[in-house]
Amino acid sequence: MTAVAQSSEAAKPATANDLNAVLTRLREAGRAAGAPTYEARIEVLDALERAIHKRKDGMVTAIARDFGNRSKHETLAAEVFVLLAEIAHAKQNLRDWMEPEDRQTGWQFMPATCQVVYQPLGVVGIISPWNYPVSLALGPLIAALAAGNRAMLKPSELVPETAELLRDLVAETFPEDQVTVVTGGSEVGEAFSKLPFDHLVFTGSTRVGKIVMRAASDNLVPVTLELGGKSPTIVGTDFDVKVAAERVMSGKTFNAGQTCIAPDYALVPAASREAFVDACKGAVTKMFPTLERNPDYTSVVNDKHFARVRSYVDDAKTRGATVVELNPANETLDPASRKMPPTLVLDPTDEMLCMQEEIFGPVLPILTYTRLDEAIAYVNAHPRPLALYYFGHGRAAIDRVLADTTSGGVSINDTMLHFAQEDLPFGGVGASGMGAYHAREGFRSLSMPKPVFRQARLNTAGLLRPPYGKLADRLLGFLIGR
Ligand code: NAD
Repeated sequence: MTAVAQSSEAAKPATANDLNAVLTRLREAGRAAGAPTYEARIEVLDALERAIHKRKDGMVTAIARDFGNRSKHETLAAEVFVLLAEIAHAKQNLRDWMEPEDRQTGWQFMPATCQVVYQPLGVVGIISPWNYPVSLALGPLIAALAAGNRAMLKPSELVPETAELLRDLVAETFPEDQVTVVTGGSEVGEAFSKLPFDHLVFTGSTRVGKIVMRAASDNLVPVTLELGGKSPTIVGTDFDVKVAAERVMSGKTFNAGQTCIAPDYALVPAASREAFVDACKGAVTKMFPTLERNPDYTSVVNDKHFARVRSYVDDAKTRGATVVELNPANETLDPASRKMPPTLVLDPTDEMLCMQEEIFGPVLPILTYTRLDEAIAYVNAHPRPLALYYFGHGRAAIDRVLADTTSGGVSINDTMLHFAQEDLPFGGVGASGMGAYHAREGFRSLSMPKPVFRQARLNTAGLLRPPYGKLADRLLGFLIGR
């Protein structure tokens, strides 16, 4: 069902016209009120912070119901903590971000002055995915509100309880002409992405990202696309294989691998592969002695995704890869639990689905290399990833990996943690997306950086006006030189 609602009572079905009406309401309210002051923005961020605190247990429950099982600790860390840290950072830096920036004035134009002032864009549309359903809906909202915008959100239909929670949270926290949540499936997403927003932030798959960008182009709506892809991990020859395996498997099993920046596959030195595989087994056994009833181990979100990830493993087996299931207690897992054991795929080839598609599940293909050049060449022969991980101590190798590969972000000697750094921008490049949010970059990408030239009372502007005479000739001769 499609719904637009602000009251936390039952949602009413909505049409494309309704969506347009919501956008008009937000836009008109924004125009009438003008750009919010620093104090007003802080108040709004405070309100969102309180709402997140108030509903944190509800988030744990709703996401767990939507997933079948979602670790409470994962929800508290990756949804609640991440958002609260983002709000705290925005509040701490907002005054500085909002400050007009003085720029140099060409000496020929002095004593005029130049500045860049940051102005709200208007209404920002936000389309979010299911995998971190709260933080990827409210994260872009924090940037939108800090930048003084109003916003309309469309959460994923695959997590209906969480979408309802978001709808209620927003309805309780904001006036309906400031932020509104629209719920519904891909057809709502489609209508939503055709709206003439002032900016659209889409987080989701590369496939849908292309459709969204096409739809937005009709209205010349600028887009931030936070997409996915296959994020490589390169294990260097000088790094402790056991520690690397622990950190890779921790990234791979967090949210059962359903993370846009999960280490998708690993490139390990050929000589250390067996040790790496053993260390992966050890790491999984330590983290998850059991799987099926273990509340720490998250389920795959639904049957379709469960079948999708399983099909990658089956395909790899059929095509000759060695598949190693890490099931520490040798449980027979009920498919209804959608708990998929962490799985290693050895000797994968490029034709296998697991090396073509973003895995988005707890499966780790392990490739080998003998020289770092080969690993770098492999990464560069594939679409630009959202994240890249390198494990190593040698400065020269780290510098080479950083200089010779292009990815949305990097963590050295760990996985995923660059995302949690509030002062680092987050975004993709090439097939993994465009634009960024978090930190100052989030504020900037949802603001209009307006260049302003202020002419001085006494100035030389009149020297170069028609009718052009000798003075103009001399002046231009002087400015241009020989
Ligand atoms: P998805 O692309 O299937 O859906 C994302 C959103 O788009 C949902 O709200 C959906 O309803 C909506 N949608 C679907 N069809 C649409 C259409 N035709 N027009 C407009 N909207 C439409 O993605 P998903 O399965 O929810 O999420 C998984 C993907 O998201 C993975 O590829 C993952 O890597 C990526 N992701 C990226 C980031 C990031 O920050 N870069 C974060 C999380 C997930």
